[in-house]
Amino acid sequence: MAHVKLHIPGPVEVSEKTFRAFCQPMIGHRGQGFKDLYAKIQPQLQGLLSTRQLVYLSTSSAWGVMEGAIRNLVSKKVLNCMCGAFSDKWLDVSKRCGKEAEALQVPWGSPIRAEEVDKKLATGQFDALTLIHNETSTGVMSPLAEIAALKQKYPDVMFIVDAVSSMSGTKIDFDALGLDVLLAGTQKAFAMPPGLAVFVCSPAALAKAATMKDRGYYFDFVEFQKNAEQSMTPSTPSIGHVYALASKLEDFAAEGLENRFARHARLAQMTRDWAAGQGFNLFPEKGYESVTLTCVSNGARPGGRVVDVAKLQKLVKDQGILIDGGYGKIKGTTFRLSNMGDETEATMKQLYAALDKGLGQLG
Ligand SMILES: *Cc1c(COP(=O)(O)O)cnc(C)c1O
Repeated sequence: MAHVKLHIPGPVEVSEKTFRAFCQPMIGHRGQGFKDLYAKIQPQLQGLLSTRQLVYLSTSSAWGVMEGAIRNLVSKKVLNCMCGAFSDKWLDVSKRCGKEAEALQVPWGSPIRAEEVDKKLATGQFDALTLIHNETSTGVMSPLAEIAALKQKYPDVMFIVDAVSSMSGTKIDFDALGLDVLLAGTQKAFAMPPGLAVFVCSPAALAKAATMKDRGYYFDFVEFQKNAEQSMTPSTPSIGHVYALASKLEDFAAEGLENRFARHARLAQMTRDWAAGQGFNLFPEKGYESVTLTCVSNGARPGGRVVDVAKLQKLVKDQGILIDGGYGKIKGTTFRLSNMGDETEATMKQLYAALDKGLGQLG
Protein backbone atom coordinates (compact mmCIF):
# COMPACT_ATOMS: atom_id res chain seq x y z
CA MET A 1 0.00 0.00 0.00
CA ALA A 2 1.39 3.40 -0.98
CA HIS A 3 2.14 5.64 1.99
CA VAL A 4 0.03 8.76 2.35
CA LYS A 5 2.16 11.58 3.73
CA LEU A 6 0.76 13.12 6.90
CA HIS A 7 0.09 16.86 6.96
CA ILE A 8 -2.46 16.52 9.76
CA PRO A 9 -1.53 18.12 13.09
CA GLY A 10 -0.56 14.87 14.73
CA PRO A 11 0.60 12.27 14.33
CA VAL A 12 2.90 13.86 11.77
CA GLU A 13 5.27 12.37 9.22
CA VAL A 14 8.15 10.36 10.74
CA SER A 15 11.53 10.20 9.01
CA GLU A 16 13.31 7.01 7.92
CA LYS A 17 16.16 7.88 10.29
CA THR A 18 13.78 8.07 13.23
CA PHE A 19 12.19 4.72 12.31
CA ARG A 20 15.60 3.09 12.03
CA ALA A 21 16.51 4.42 15.48
CA PHE A 22 13.20 3.15 16.86
CA CYS A 23 13.89 -0.38 15.66
CA GLN A 24 17.24 -0.98 17.38
CA PRO A 25 17.59 -4.17 19.48
CA MET A 26 16.07 -4.16 22.96
CA ILE A 27 18.07 -3.55 26.12
CA GLY A 28 17.04 -3.97 29.75
CA HIS A 29 15.49 -0.85 31.28
CA ARG A 30 17.34 -1.34 34.58
CA GLY A 31 20.70 -1.95 32.94
CA GLN A 32 23.61 0.40 32.33
CA GLY A 33 22.85 0.65 28.61
CA PHE A 34 19.48 2.24 29.26
CA LYS A 35 20.84 4.50 31.99
CA ASP A 36 23.56 5.70 29.63
CA LEU A 37 20.99 6.37 26.93
CA TYR A 38 18.74 8.40 29.26
CA ALA A 39 21.74 10.21 30.79
CA LYS A 40 22.97 11.12 27.30
CA ILE A 41 19.71 12.74 26.24
CA GLN A 42 18.94 14.42 29.60
CA PRO A 43 21.09 17.54 28.99
CA GLN A 44 19.67 17.86 25.47
CA LEU A 45 16.13 17.76 26.86
CA GLN A 46 17.07 20.29 29.54
CA GLY A 47 18.49 22.53 26.82
CA LEU A 48 15.33 22.22 24.74
CA LEU A 49 13.17 23.31 27.70
CA SER A 50 15.69 25.73 29.23
CA THR A 51 15.49 24.01 32.59
CA ARG A 52 17.78 22.73 35.31
CA GLN A 53 15.12 20.26 36.44
CA LEU A 54 15.25 16.65 35.32
CA VAL A 55 13.09 15.96 32.28
CA TYR A 56 10.90 12.85 32.57
CA LEU A 57 9.92 10.30 29.96
CA SER A 58 6.49 8.69 30.16
CA THR A 59 5.72 6.22 27.46
CA SER A 60 2.06 7.08 27.52
CA SER A 61 0.33 9.50 25.23
CA ALA A 62 0.11 13.10 26.46
CA TRP A 63 -3.21 12.56 28.22
CA GLY A 64 -1.55 10.24 30.72
CA VAL A 65 0.57 13.10 32.00
CA MET A 66 -2.29 15.62 31.63
CA GLU A 67 -4.46 13.46 33.89
CA GLY A 68 -1.46 12.77 36.13
CA ALA A 69 -0.89 16.49 36.65
CA ILE A 70 -4.45 16.82 37.98
CA ARG A 71 -4.03 13.85 40.33
CA ASN A 72 -0.62 15.04 41.56
CA LEU A 73 -1.33 18.73 42.00
CA VAL A 74 -4.97 19.64 42.59
CA SER A 75 -6.17 19.57 46.19
CA LYS A 76 -8.51 22.58 46.30
CA LYS A 77 -9.85 23.49 42.88
CA VAL A 78 -8.45 23.66 39.36
CA LEU A 79 -9.11 26.41 36.83
CA ASN A 80 -9.27 24.86 33.36
CA CYS A 81 -8.53 27.51 30.73
CA MET A 82 -10.58 26.47 27.71
CA CYS A 83 -10.39 27.66 24.10
CA GLY A 84 -10.78 24.52 21.97
CA ALA A 85 -11.32 20.76 21.96
CA PHE A 86 -8.23 19.69 23.92
CA SER A 87 -8.37 22.43 26.55
CA ASP A 88 -12.15 21.95 26.97
CA LYS A 89 -11.60 18.24 27.55
CA TRP A 90 -9.25 18.94 30.49
CA LEU A 91 -12.27 20.16 32.53
CA ASP A 92 -13.99 16.84 31.98
CA VAL A 93 -10.82 14.94 32.88
CA SER A 94 -10.40 17.00 36.08
CA LYS A 95 -13.94 16.14 37.13
CA ARG A 96 -13.45 12.47 36.31
CA CYS A 97 -10.47 12.52 38.69
CA GLY A 98 -12.94 13.63 41.38
CA LYS A 99 -11.54 17.18 41.59
CA GLU A 100 -13.32 20.48 42.01
CA ALA A 101 -12.92 22.22 38.66
CA GLU A 102 -14.10 25.40 36.97
CA ALA A 103 -13.99 26.56 33.38
CA LEU A 104 -12.52 29.74 32.03
CA GLN A 105 -14.14 29.37 28.64
CA VAL A 106 -13.45 31.67 25.70
CA PRO A 107 -14.89 31.22 22.20
CA TRP A 108 -13.01 28.80 19.96
CA GLY A 109 -10.56 30.77 17.85
CA SER A 110 -9.74 33.18 20.69
CA PRO A 111 -6.69 32.87 22.94
CA ILE A 112 -6.67 32.71 26.71
CA ARG A 113 -5.79 36.17 28.00
CA ALA A 114 -3.83 36.96 31.15
CA GLU A 115 -6.42 39.52 32.39
CA GLU A 116 -9.15 36.88 32.44
CA VAL A 117 -6.94 34.35 34.23
CA ASP A 118 -5.98 37.02 36.74
CA LYS A 119 -9.65 37.77 37.52
CA LYS A 120 -10.37 34.12 38.21
CA LEU A 121 -7.26 33.52 40.32
CA ALA A 122 -8.01 36.67 42.35
CA THR A 123 -11.00 34.83 43.87
CA GLY A 124 -8.49 32.74 45.83
CA GLN A 125 -10.45 29.57 45.05
CA PHE A 126 -7.80 27.84 42.97
CA ASP A 127 -4.61 25.94 43.72
CA ALA A 128 -3.93 24.95 40.11
CA LEU A 129 -4.68 25.95 36.55
CA THR A 130 -4.41 24.11 33.25
CA LEU A 131 -3.46 25.90 30.06
CA ILE A 132 -2.90 24.64 26.54
CA HIS A 133 -0.19 26.74 24.95
CA ASN A 134 -1.01 25.78 21.37
CA GLU A 135 -4.65 24.69 21.01
CA THR A 136 -4.29 22.26 18.13
CA SER A 137 -8.01 22.09 17.31
CA THR A 138 -8.28 25.82 16.56
CA GLY A 139 -4.69 26.65 15.59
CA VAL A 140 -4.48 29.28 18.35
CA MET A 141 -1.42 30.05 20.46
CA SER A 142 -2.18 31.71 23.78
CA PRO A 143 0.29 34.31 25.13
CA LEU A 144 2.19 32.02 27.47
CA ALA A 145 4.67 34.56 28.84
CA GLU A 146 1.92 37.00 29.84
CA ILE A 147 -0.08 34.29 31.56
CA ALA A 148 3.00 32.78 33.24
CA ALA A 149 3.88 36.24 34.65
CA LEU A 150 0.85 35.80 36.95
CA LYS A 151 2.76 33.10 38.80
CA GLN A 152 4.54 35.86 40.74
CA LYS A 153 1.21 37.18 41.97
CA TYR A 154 -0.15 33.69 42.76
CA PRO A 155 2.88 31.64 43.82
CA ASP A 156 0.78 28.90 45.44
CA VAL A 157 -1.16 28.15 42.26
CA MET A 158 0.29 25.29 40.21
CA PHE A 159 0.68 26.37 36.56
CA ILE A 160 0.19 23.22 34.45
CA VAL A 161 0.94 23.78 30.77
CA ASP A 162 0.29 21.49 27.81
CA ALA A 163 2.75 22.27 25.02
CA VAL A 164 1.86 19.10 23.13
CA SER A 165 1.87 20.71 19.70
CA SER A 166 4.33 23.55 20.37
CA MET A 167 7.25 21.99 22.27
CA SER A 168 10.29 21.88 19.96
CA GLY A 169 8.42 24.06 17.44
CA THR A 170 8.92 27.24 19.44
CA LYS A 171 11.02 28.33 22.40
CA ILE A 172 9.59 27.67 25.85
CA ASP A 173 11.84 28.59 28.79
CA PHE A 174 10.46 26.46 31.60
CA ASP A 175 12.54 27.85 34.48
CA ALA A 176 12.43 31.50 33.41
CA LEU A 177 8.67 31.37 32.90
CA GLY A 178 8.24 29.91 36.38
CA LEU A 179 5.89 27.14 35.25
CA ASP A 180 5.14 24.11 37.42
CA VAL A 181 4.47 21.44 34.80
CA LEU A 182 5.23 21.47 31.09
CA LEU A 183 4.40 18.46 28.95
CA ALA A 184 4.23 17.27 25.37
CA GLY A 185 3.51 14.14 23.36
CA THR A 186 6.09 13.31 20.72
CA GLN A 187 3.82 12.60 17.75
CA LYS A 188 3.37 16.33 17.19
CA ALA A 189 6.27 18.77 16.69
CA PHE A 190 8.91 16.18 17.66
CA ALA A 191 7.88 14.14 14.59
CA MET A 192 8.13 10.81 16.38
CA PRO A 193 5.70 7.90 16.52
CA PRO A 194 2.90 8.34 19.10
CA GLY A 195 3.34 6.81 22.54
CA LEU A 196 5.87 8.98 24.38
CA ALA A 197 5.34 12.05 26.56
CA VAL A 198 8.13 14.34 27.73
CA PHE A 199 7.53 16.45 30.84
CA VAL A 200 9.17 18.48 33.56
CA CYS A 201 8.07 19.63 37.04
CA SER A 202 9.16 22.54 39.23
CA PRO A 203 10.53 21.81 42.72
CA ALA A 204 7.29 23.34 44.09
CA ALA A 205 5.22 20.89 42.03
CA LEU A 206 7.24 17.95 43.34
CA ALA A 207 6.82 19.19 46.92
CA LYS A 208 3.08 19.55 46.42
CA ALA A 209 2.78 16.13 44.78
CA ALA A 210 4.52 14.53 47.77
CA THR A 211 1.63 15.72 49.99
CA MET A 212 -1.09 14.24 47.76
CA LYS A 213 -2.48 10.96 49.06
CA ASP A 214 -4.34 9.69 46.01
CA ARG A 215 -1.89 10.41 43.22
CA GLY A 216 -1.69 6.75 42.27
CA TYR A 217 1.44 5.01 41.06
CA TYR A 218 1.74 4.99 37.27
CA PHE A 219 1.77 8.78 36.91
CA ASP A 220 3.20 9.61 40.33
CA PHE A 221 5.47 12.59 39.69
CA VAL A 222 7.53 11.80 42.81
CA GLU A 223 8.30 8.35 41.33
CA PHE A 224 9.33 9.98 38.05
CA GLN A 225 11.74 12.24 39.91
CA LYS A 226 13.22 9.44 42.05
CA ASN A 227 13.80 7.29 38.99
CA ALA A 228 15.08 10.11 36.79
CA GLU A 229 17.74 10.81 39.41
CA GLN A 230 19.10 7.39 38.43
CA SER A 231 18.43 7.83 34.71
CA MET A 232 15.47 5.47 34.83
CA THR A 233 11.71 5.51 34.45
CA PRO A 234 9.26 4.19 37.10
CA SER A 235 8.09 1.29 34.93
CA THR A 236 9.27 -0.37 31.73
CA PRO A 237 9.26 2.32 29.04
CA SER A 238 8.84 1.78 25.33
CA ILE A 239 12.59 1.60 24.74
CA GLY A 240 12.16 2.10 21.00
CA HIS A 241 10.71 5.54 21.73
CA VAL A 242 13.73 6.48 23.80
CA TYR A 243 16.05 5.44 20.95
CA ALA A 244 13.92 7.48 18.55
CA LEU A 245 14.01 10.48 20.88
CA ALA A 246 17.81 10.29 21.07
CA SER A 247 17.95 10.30 17.28
CA LYS A 248 15.53 13.21 17.07
CA LEU A 249 17.51 15.25 19.60
CA GLU A 250 20.58 14.70 17.41
CA ASP A 251 18.60 16.17 14.51
CA PHE A 252 17.59 19.18 16.64
CA ALA A 253 21.24 19.79 17.58
CA ALA A 254 22.40 19.48 13.97
CA GLU A 255 19.86 22.05 12.81
CA GLY A 256 20.26 24.28 15.88
CA LEU A 257 17.27 24.94 18.13
CA GLU A 258 16.93 28.59 17.12
CA ASN A 259 16.93 27.57 13.46
CA ARG A 260 14.32 24.93 14.18
CA PHE A 261 12.05 27.45 15.89
CA ALA A 262 12.56 29.98 13.09
CA ARG A 263 11.79 27.33 10.46
CA HIS A 264 8.46 26.54 12.10
CA ALA A 265 7.51 30.23 12.26
CA ARG A 266 8.51 30.75 8.61
CA LEU A 267 6.60 27.71 7.30
CA ALA A 268 3.44 28.66 9.24
CA GLN A 269 3.63 32.13 7.68
CA MET A 270 3.97 30.53 4.23
CA THR A 271 0.80 28.52 4.87
CA ARG A 272 -1.10 31.61 6.02
CA ASP A 273 0.03 33.37 2.84
CA TRP A 274 -1.07 30.40 0.75
CA ALA A 275 -4.52 30.47 2.40
CA ALA A 276 -4.89 34.21 1.77
CA GLY A 277 -3.80 33.73 -1.83
CA GLN A 278 -6.58 31.19 -2.33
CA GLY A 279 -9.16 33.54 -0.81
CA PHE A 280 -9.55 31.84 2.56
CA ASN A 281 -9.75 33.55 5.95
CA LEU A 282 -7.98 32.12 8.97
CA PHE A 283 -9.86 30.76 11.97
CA PRO A 284 -7.67 32.14 14.81
CA GLU A 285 -8.04 35.66 16.08
CA LYS A 286 -5.43 37.83 14.38
CA GLY A 287 -2.09 37.85 16.18
CA TYR A 288 -2.61 34.49 17.90
CA GLU A 289 -1.98 32.11 15.00
CA SER A 290 -0.02 28.97 15.79
CA VAL A 291 3.48 28.52 14.41
CA THR A 292 3.12 24.75 14.00
CA LEU A 293 -0.17 24.45 12.15
CA THR A 294 -2.70 26.59 10.34
CA CYS A 295 -6.42 26.37 10.96
CA VAL A 296 -8.08 27.73 7.81
CA SER A 297 -11.62 29.06 8.05
CA ASN A 298 -14.02 27.49 5.59
CA GLY A 299 -17.15 29.32 6.61
CA ALA A 300 -16.50 29.29 10.37
CA ARG A 301 -15.57 32.98 10.08
CA PRO A 302 -17.58 35.50 8.07
CA GLY A 303 -16.31 36.11 4.54
CA GLY A 304 -13.65 34.20 2.73
CA ARG A 305 -13.85 31.21 0.47
CA VAL A 306 -15.91 28.13 1.32
CA VAL A 307 -15.35 24.75 -0.33
CA ASP A 308 -16.40 21.14 0.24
CA VAL A 309 -13.64 20.12 2.66
CA ALA A 310 -14.37 16.39 2.51
CA LYS A 311 -13.99 16.51 -1.28
CA LEU A 312 -10.84 18.62 -1.08
CA GLN A 313 -9.37 16.21 1.45
CA LYS A 314 -10.08 13.31 -0.91
CA LEU A 315 -8.57 15.10 -3.93
CA VAL A 316 -5.41 15.88 -1.95
CA LYS A 317 -5.24 12.34 -0.59
CA ASP A 318 -5.39 11.01 -4.15
CA GLN A 319 -2.10 12.89 -4.62
CA GLY A 320 -0.57 11.13 -1.61
CA ILE A 321 -1.03 13.74 1.13
CA LEU A 322 -3.40 13.70 4.09
CA ILE A 323 -4.79 16.99 5.40
CA ASP A 324 -7.17 17.42 8.31
CA GLY A 325 -10.83 18.27 7.71
CA GLY A 326 -11.42 20.18 10.95
CA TYR A 327 -11.84 18.99 14.54
CA GLY A 328 -14.91 18.64 16.74
CA LYS A 329 -17.59 21.27 16.30
CA ILE A 330 -15.59 23.09 13.58
CA LYS A 331 -15.18 20.00 11.39
CA GLY A 332 -15.95 21.01 7.81
CA THR A 333 -16.15 24.74 8.60
CA THR A 334 -12.37 24.75 9.03
CA PHE A 335 -9.49 22.59 7.84
CA ARG A 336 -5.98 22.26 9.24
CA LEU A 337 -2.55 22.07 7.65
CA SER A 338 0.42 21.06 9.76
CA ASN A 339 3.98 22.29 9.31
CA MET A 340 5.30 20.50 12.40
CA GLY A 341 8.39 18.42 12.67
CA ASP A 342 10.69 17.93 9.70
CA GLU A 343 8.89 20.01 7.06
CA THR A 344 10.84 22.33 4.79
CA GLU A 345 9.94 25.05 2.31
CA ALA A 346 10.18 22.43 -0.45
CA THR A 347 7.83 19.93 1.25
CA MET A 348 5.34 22.68 2.14
CA LYS A 349 5.33 23.81 -1.51
CA GLN A 350 4.42 20.25 -2.49
CA LEU A 351 1.48 20.47 -0.08
CA TYR A 352 0.33 23.81 -1.51
CA ALA A 353 0.65 22.45 -5.06
CA ALA A 354 -1.52 19.46 -4.14
CA LEU A 355 -4.07 21.77 -2.51
CA ASP A 356 -4.06 24.11 -5.53
CA LYS A 357 -4.66 21.18 -7.84
CA GLY A 358 -7.45 19.87 -5.59
CA LEU A 359 -9.09 23.28 -5.44
CA GLY A 360 -8.84 23.51 -9.23
CA GLN A 361 -10.57 20.16 -9.60
CA LEU A 362 -13.35 21.29 -7.24
CA GLY A 363 -14.03 24.12 -9.66
C1 LIG B 1 -2.78 15.87 20.46
C2 LIG B 1 -2.99 16.73 21.65
C3 LIG B 1 -3.31 16.20 22.91
C4 LIG B 1 -3.60 14.75 23.14
O1 LIG B 1 -2.53 13.96 22.98
P1 LIG B 1 -2.64 12.36 23.06
O2 LIG B 1 -1.33 11.98 22.52
O3 LIG B 1 -3.78 11.94 22.20
O4 LIG B 1 -2.83 12.00 24.48
C5 LIG B 1 -3.40 17.07 23.97
N1 LIG B 1 -3.21 18.37 23.83
C6 LIG B 1 -2.92 18.93 22.65
C7 LIG B 1 -2.72 20.40 22.54
C8 LIG B 1 -2.80 18.12 21.52
O5 LIG B 1 -2.50 18.67 20.33
